[in-house]
Amino acid sequence: MTSTCQLCNSTNLHTHLQNDAKSKLPLSISFCSDCSLIQQQEIPSDEDLKIYYSHNYRQDYKSTYSPNTKYVRRAGMTALDRIKFLESHVQLSNQVLLDIGAGGGEFVYMAQKKGLQSKGIEPNLGYSTFSKEQYGVEVKTAMLSDVQDSSADIVTLFHVFEHMAKPLDVMKKLYSSIKDGGYLFIEVPNILQADASPHNIYFKAHLFYYSKFTLACAASQYFDVVKVEDKGNLKVLFKKKAQPSENISSVQADEIEFSQNRIKQKGWLEYLFNGKGLLKPFLRIERVVTELLINQTSPKAILDSLYTAR
Ligand SMILES: [Zn+2]
Repeated sequence: MTSTCQLCNSTNLHTHLQNDAKSKLPLSISFCSDCSLIQQQEIPSDEDLKIYYSHNYRQDYKSTYSPNTKYVRRAGMTALDRIKFLESHVQLSNQVLLDIGAGGGEFVYMAQKKGLQSKGIEPNLGYSTFSKEQYGVEVKTAMLSDVQDSSADIVTLFHVFEHMAKPLDVMKKLYSSIKDGGYLFIEVPNILQADASPHNIYFKAHLFYYSKFTLACAASQYFDVVKVEDKGNLKVLFKKKAQPSENISSVQADEIEFSQNRIKQKGWLEYLFNGKGLLKPFLRIERVVTELLINQTSPKAILDSLYTAR
């Protein structure tokens, strides 16, 4: 049982024993009154996490993986949105980009089309193999701890950081994996998001539930915030500090209060923790029709056509 906050080391944690939205098993979550980080109480070991992400997390962990066209199309559109966010703040051409937890490699491929020297790592063999075979991109079967060089101008983690234990250690590792003057782009579910269903946010794999305040705090020793976008998911672009700071910066009292109120106001905790959120109607008819039409196309052809359409 973890009794201290993984971010600020406080013992002022308010614990809720609740149920996993997916498995319905009991899951203990707490809110830290000193930094507002929401975190799981029992953080798995690094070894357990490695096994989980190599084998269990992605449903298909064999060496063959074939996502449907619907998935590829959505991943492609999301990748283009992320590139758009990135390019409005960073000069992208010829930059070396490393995507941590690259999944099926859609972002790595799109970034390459955009002129970046992009590569990725992904612990799951089926996904990393798929990336190489379908898109011809460099995605190694590996985890962040396997990264040994610091050749990246930009490192990206999309819906990965909330799965990682020891956020401060992860930030330190990221700092050493990025070139001087380089950038870190993190996207996570936004715990303060007002109007979304938490159905997909809350489950055992997510060890932490970040807000713009707690994510900035987690990075503060090693990175400065360049840009925050928190409509929907939380996107934060960071720039590597010239020198790491001695300590993390603290989350301000008014920010903690705001977070707590937002969570209470929305009945967010209860909604989350009882796992009763209903999935919003997800598909628009138009999209379904388009997806049917492209059903026979290869993943690469889907991404190519999306790229051209933008
Ligand atoms: Zn804390």
